[in-house]
Amino acid sequence: MRNEFDINSNDNVLFVTAQCNNHCLMCCQPPLKVDDIEELYERNIQLLHTAPKELKVLGVTGGEPTLLGDKLISLLREVRFCLPDTAIHLLSNGRAFKDAAYTKRISEAAGNNFFIGIPFHSDYSGDHNIIAGSKNAYEETMTGLYNLADNGVEIELRVVINKLNYIRLPRMAEYIFKNLPFVSWTAFMGMERTGLSVRNADRIWVEPKEYARYLRDAVVALDDWRMDVAIYNVPLCLLPRDCWPFAKQSISDWKTKYVECCEACAVKEQCCGHFSTSTKLYEGIVPIIN
Ligand code: SF4
Ligand code: SF4
Repeated sequence: MRNEFDINSNDNVLFVTAQCNNHCLMCCQPPLKVDDIEELYERNIQLLHTAPKELKVLGVTGGEPTLLGDKLISLLREVRFCLPDTAIHLLSNGRAFKDAAYTKRISEAAGNNFFIGIPFHSDYSGDHNIIAGSKNAYEETMTGLYNLADNGVEIELRVVINKLNYIRLPRMAEYIFKNLPFVSWTAFMGMERTGLSVRNADRIWVEPKEYARYLRDAVVALDDWRMDVAIYNVPLCLLPRDCWPFAKQSISDWKTKYVECCEACAVKEQCCGHFSTSTKLYEGIVPIIN
């Protein structure tokens, strides 16, 4: 947790709680049962008043930020007051937005230039719930997505690629096109090997070389259907070349690392690199020689 903002960083966030009502199999920051909301709220309000007005994006993250209830609304109002031109990027599992009235109040508090990252683990509810570690997650998150769309909130749909969903990625793309066409973009995300993804590695871990062809089919399909799509956290050398235009430099700057062989790579400047926090590199890293 940072105590100050860095205008040059791509990762300025307010961390609002370590608690979560999901227990995702690959959570990189396992939820804690702690009474931390009041203390972090006070700290974040103080921190906000030190924020440079030119900050492009401010993340609001946890745990699950909506566990703050009405305090999240107050916090978003304060962000808007202190940083009128800054984009707010809230990360949430989306379940609390099943409450249409709460969703409307959140949307009004955050105003314009507000987007929410919501996880979508599978088009099959059983898999989504297993991955999220909660039997109601799918239904509540789906209802939440529709309520957010009703309020015109920009949605970044986040698919963390794992052993339980990678074969379904093309089917998930079709589902998104048919049922969630209002999302602003879909991000397919490589997993960080830390936290619960280490503890649950046998159930959840899959290497990019296993999922690359399914990822490609999903990305190309969404793009063909004129839906915005991105790939986060997967190095270019592990992606088919026609996926490269969709790959973003998505890893927070303080977590990004390049390994020795990256120094000889022709596309290092465009590549996201690796998570310095992962306990193991992806397999098959090889420099690109043009
Ligand atoms: S919703 Fe996010 S914070 Fe909660 S358990 Fe899942 S990955 Fe972790
Ligand atoms: S060798 Fe390194 S810099 Fe090059 S594509 Fe692979 S991970 Fe990226």
